[in-house]
Amino acid sequence: MAASQEHGSPAGAPEPPVEEEDAKTFKDLGVTDVLCEACDQLGWKKPTKIQVEAIPLALQGRDIIGLAETGSGKTGAFALPILNALLETPQRLFALVLTPTRELAFQISEQFEALGSSIGVQTAVIVGGIDSMSQSLALAKKPHVVIATPGRLIDHLENTKGFNLRALKYLVMDEADRILNMDFETEVDKILKVIPRDRKTFLFSATMTKKVQKLQRAALKNAVKCAVSSKYQTVEKLQQYYLFIPSKFKDTYLVYILNELAGNSFMIFCSTCNNTQRTALLLRNLGFTAIPLHGQMSQTKRLGSLNKFKAKARSILLATDVASRGLDIPHVDVVVNFDIPTHSKDYIHRVGRTARAGRSGKSITFVTQYDVELFQRIEHLIGKKLPVFPTQDDEVMMLTERVTEAQRFARMELREHGEKKKRSREDAGDNDDTEGAIGVRNKVAGGKMRKRRGR
Ligand code: AMP
Repeated sequence: MAASQEHGSPAGAPEPPVEEEDAKTFKDLGVTDVLCEACDQLGWKKPTKIQVEAIPLALQGRDIIGLAETGSGKTGAFALPILNALLETPQRLFALVLTPTRELAFQISEQFEALGSSIGVQTAVIVGGIDSMSQSLALAKKPHVVIATPGRLIDHLENTKGFNLRALKYLVMDEADRILNMDFETEVDKILKVIPRDRKTFLFSATMTKKVQKLQRAALKNAVKCAVSSKYQTVEKLQQYYLFIPSKFKDTYLVYILNELAGNSFMIFCSTCNNTQRTALLLRNLGFTAIPLHGQMSQTKRLGSLNKFKAKARSILLATDVASRGLDIPHVDVVVNFDIPTHSKDYIHRVGRTARAGRSGKSITFVTQYDVELFQRIEHLIGKKLPVFPTQDDEVMMLTERVTEAQRFARMELREHGEKKKRSREDAGDNDDTEGAIGVRNKVAGGKMRKRRGR
């Protein structure tokens, strides 16, 4: 059994003084000059906490258990030591990053390429839902870093001629808790059997579950634990609010908030694919640039939505919990929990989409008469009482008529779209669902409802 020792700030321990961290640069951590320059070009002025904790140890050749969430800079915390080592001993198929979702895999590959562009790093993303043949071709070119979801990687290990990971030097298991919760345990075991034992392993996880501990024992040697408290960031930079409203006025309050906070970028969480789609249609009917992201969309459409949002061509992303973790969307200003999360932990992941990497942000959680108990559980989990988000109820009610009309159109569109799909006339591949579905968009009286206001 691998021993592990604590490092960093375990839960409950005082945070190290901020000045001490402020003094650290990437160079101080031991990162080589060319990579320090790459960080600088990305606008990474100084390392984040997890980077300060993990990078020096990783550079010393230690296995790492990183308890940190997306938004903490954890990708840099594992990518920089890997690139540093790659520069010292260049080799193809040098590192493998296992990750639970396709979106996350693309983001990680983007960070590797951004940090490693000046040294010519090549990556391949191996995920489900995308043509397997082009992935085989990418693997045949023997990239330096493979970023993969476990299932599709196994397919290639079993079926792609000439591809193996027998010379691998680094294994990263990113969001290990999620990988295991998604029942990828068997796949991970299979992968561990076909890569060298003599390698370095970095395991990153938001939470230390029993399954993660088991994986840690099986896969890591003499690992050092680096923990960063996510509460710290929450307290400092994130303003969290709730809004107690009758269920039937949820749409109206949502529109009110989007108007009140116009000029910001929003991520709105819904509990089902259907409600995500419906709400996106509703908002578009009112002139908002809203776009959906959920599990019933094809991979191409999901990436399309995400890219439009990232490029700021859309200011509102409506998503199910598929998108609540792992997505790197740096400019989300406001998270709205339109449907309250059923699992309190999802609350933390959702609001973690804003106030990232030192920026500030807001979250507003809608609580209806049916959600009180769930909300109390959330408050208990985060250990504090949230303030109410201030609203002018008379102004909200003035929106009712137009919202009701937009709801009617949205329902029609949803129905039309469903029927179209049933008749299988739609090509599943290309357009974004909402945009394809809207035949009667913007027909609501008054057309655009969105007020333009400064931040
Ligand atoms: P991650 O937790 O790896 O998903 O990173 C979250 C975001 O923080 C990404 O957009 C990174 O580009 C950014 N980031 C990572 N490290 C730093 C840093 N040292 N300074 C500023 N931003 C960073």
